[in-house]
Amino acid sequence: SVLRHAIQNATARELRRTSHRAELAIDATALSDALERSDVYVHYQPKADIRTGIVRGVEALARWTHPTLGPIPPDLFIPLAERSQLIHRLTIDVMNQAMLQNAAWRARGLHLPVAINLSPTLLERADLALEISSLQQCHGLTPDHIVVEITESSLVTRVGTALSVLAQLRLRGFGLSIDDYGTGFSSMQQLARIPFTELKIDRSFVRGAPERESLQVILRSAIDMANRLGLVTVAEGVETLQEWRMLQEFGCTLGQGWLIARPMAGDDLIGWMKQHRVQAAQLRA
Ligand code: C2E
Ligand code: MG
Ligand code: MG
Ligand code: MG
Repeated sequence: SVLRHAIQNATARELRRTSHRAELAIDATALSDALERSDVYVHYQPKADIRTGIVRGVEALARWTHPTLGPIPPDLFIPLAERSQLIHRLTIDVMNQAMLQNAAWRARGLHLPVAINLSPTLLERADLALEISSLQQCHGLTPDHIVVEITESSLVTRVGTALSVLAQLRLRGFGLSIDDYGTGFSSMQQLARIPFTELKIDRSFVRGAPERESLQVILRSAIDMANRLGLVTVAEGVETLQEWRMLQEFGCTLGQGWLIARPMAGDDLIGWMKQHRVQAAQLRA
């Protein structure tokens, strides 16, 4: 365990160093080139039923592997994309890839809703819902197989166009998810104005909750509230079986995290699902 800890620390240090190097070296031109060269691709992380362990959907997460710097973390290049107007291109690219992948899975008998992260800046585009609808129709998918995730912290300052875009997305039949719930300061009143279908509780409330009663109180009440509002509840960042069991007890709907799987390439998902059946049996309540 001491050794594992040392390795984890070293990995974290290396990651920070890489991030730092990348931070200095990447800019809008590099990202634009990457989009051009298809260096930006998508990995998928399963969302699993808390009671049975069965996979109910996946989240699409953008990945960028730079030819010399290697992998660039999304926490670096997403803000860069937002600052440099490249976020629209990036998002459409991610959506296209995710929808293509979804159609490929479907052809192999796997029907899984896919969630796509949406930057708050895109909610200023009045035609966004129409654009996503067109993409979805092009790929022959139904809207109920697509979920849009928006971070809670981004909702606070949004008005007018953003609210209308979210309402349009819901009217068109897409799922609407509040991401990283608990990290923003949105009021219940604000949340109630938007027709959300899902609430994802930020992983900072899940990590270490089995040992901290205050986190348990927050988790339990967030799950209760969302369940009563008829929302699907998702716990992010579940890493241990203990956390999983606790969420089971609290009545959470879905769990996502390294305990189930790390984000993976689309082609690997079907093979992973077969193998996961064995693990799922152990996750059952
Ligand atoms: P997010 O949407 O909240 O995604 C969850 C993040 O937590 C992912 O990080 C995922 O790899 C990580 N994660 C999942 N399970 C665990 C776990 O058990 N433990 C730990 N420590 N981490 C876990 P990732 O892929 O680095 O993405 C970071 C953020 O970047 C995302 O947070 C999302 O806000 C943003 N992002 C990623 N792809 C896109 C995209 O295509 N568009 C936009 N707008 N944002 C994106
Ligand atoms: Mg997300
Ligand atoms: Mg999240
Ligand atoms: Mg997050």
